[in-house]
Amino acid sequence: MRFDIFSLFPEMFRGAFDDSIIRRARTSGLVEVFIHDIRASTSDKHHSTDDLPYGGGGGMLLMPEPVFSAVERALADAGDDASSIVLLSPQGRVFTQAIAQQFAQHKRLALICGRYEGVDERVREHLATDEISIGDYVLTGGEIPAMVIVDAVTRLLPGALGDPDAPAKDSHVGGLLEGAQYTRPAEFRGWRVPDVLLSGHHAQITKWRRQQSLRRTLERRPELLRAAQLDEADRQYLQSLGWKE
Ligand code: SAM
Repeated sequence: MRFDIFSLFPEMFRGAFDDSIIRRARTSGLVEVFIHDIRASTSDKHHSTDDLPYGGGGGMLLMPEPVFSAVERALADAGDDASSIVLLSPQGRVFTQAIAQQFAQHKRLALICGRYEGVDERVREHLATDEISIGDYVLTGGEIPAMVIVDAVTRLLPGALGDPDAPAKDSHVGGLLEGAQYTRPAEFRGWRVPDVLLSGHHAQITKWRRQQSLRRTLERRPELLRAAQLDEADRQYLQSLGWKE
């Protein structure tokens, strides 16, 4: 999969994709990440990228011309692999695991990082095909949101993780939070790992994990249960904890 990221601050990405799983995915050719400097696509001698908003108001807006030029140039050879062009914006649909899973099906994904007071509306209307927010708060730029999306999508690509089944067990995948997990030692400062995990009884461990996941979701994010994939045993267990459907 190929990511094209468009930014006024390409230096911010230095090191961001150079460790651990993302680095391995890049070196093995599973993903390619191209960082495009929007300033390199300016046409005036001052290399202007932003200007005052029409109608007044504070701050500066990214001008459409360098953004269109940078994206069109980079995607000119995309052909049948034409990607979604995502504008990062606090006004977009909120990024979720389900959206990460959809993006992981793409061959290419373009991510436009806004700055300052934002981006001229014509980028949103006539260039971007999608608009994504990473949460209901405002950051100074779209670079960190772009890193978040590359990370979340890359780890879903087959071959990115050592354990291919790992993503299926993660929080938010089946609509639930993952339950508590433990590693060695079996006892730490007097706190013991639950006996069932040491029992070697796989069916009981599976049942315990499922119940932990249900309990944790009910305690922390009960609204997720409305859309979660639940069977009759799950429902009965949740009802025993006081859950009302
Ligand atoms: N004035 C804009 C508004 O109120 O919607 C906010 C502009 S913000 C300071 C500058 C840029 O940061 C945005 O254009 C966007 O690319 C990025 N950004 C800020 N918060 C974001 C978020 N929660 N998710 C995605 N991108 C965000």
